[in-house]
Amino acid sequence: MLKNRSIISIADLSDEDINEIFTEADKMLENLNSGQKMNDMESRILATLFYEPSTRTRLSFESAMQRLGGSVISMADSKTSSTSKGETLADTVRIVESYSDIIVIRHPLEGAALLASKFSSKPVINAGDGSGEHPTQTLIDLYTIRKESGSIDGKTITIIGDLKYGRTVHSLLSALARYRVNVNLVSPESLALPKHVYNEIKGRLKVNVSTDLEPFLAQTDILYVTRIQKERFTDKNEYARLIGSYKITGREADMLPSGAIIMHPLPRVDEISPEVDNREPAKYFRQAYYGVPVRMALISMIAGE
Ligand code: ASP
Repeated sequence: MLKNRSIISIADLSDEDINEIFTEADKMLENLNSGQKMNDMESRILATLFYEPSTRTRLSFESAMQRLGGSVISMADSKTSSTSKGETLADTVRIVESYSDIIVIRHPLEGAALLASKFSSKPVINAGDGSGEHPTQTLIDLYTIRKESGSIDGKTITIIGDLKYGRTVHSLLSALARYRVNVNLVSPESLALPKHVYNEIKGRLKVNVSTDLEPFLAQTDILYVTRIQKERFTDKNEYARLIGSYKITGREADMLPSGAIIMHPLPRVDEISPEVDNREPAKYFRQAYYGVPVRMALISMIAGE
């Protein structure tokens, strides 16, 4: 059902689509673990167009395509492409769609992926548009919760950090509103969730808002930590004031109930201390690993035969 469809927002996916992606991702994970060779994407080309830095998203999309037997062409740095000569996004997309079967794009401007999809007859996947959305990260986040926490329904999820600029938070909350979950939102006041996202979820979810994490820890099943999004600040002094607002250390990890998990879309700066990495609740590296099977599922469902 996903065939040839662009994924710009998490809202583009129905509950049924999401469940199908997870079923397919389970199969991909099994194949990866058993070392089975796959050729679903043989003779297909995935293009990655990245106008902003990325490690996991670009490399896991590329790894996913290659694991499926397909090929990849990549613009990993807009400074070395014709963008630096003044080429518009629309023109670049018109060209790249003729070189590939599916396009993955990341751009600093909100709405850029949607714009790209208007100029492409091939499916476009939004890999992050400014402070807008990051729908495939949300698929990975939900998949991780299912795998590492058993289910999504019934859980209490505490999201902490930069709720204003964090695009992964915006997509995740929009998706969580489809489940029966409680959400705690913890951030400095100036980095609170944008009104439009808050309005979308309020009434559909039980939401608490606070600047203080500690009172929520004992009731948290999933602690979702985010980075203060340095690149979105126009005032660097404001960033300097806010960095270090929260830090998850062994002390905070110990205050979580047993079975709770800690997630982070990564990269982390200093918001999770490395001493947490080897503790039971730390699932953020596992979460990054799930990026490959989930993106394999998505690519094969969108661009497969
Ligand atoms: N990698 C995620 C993103 O691109 C999270 C982050 O950068 O903080 O949005």
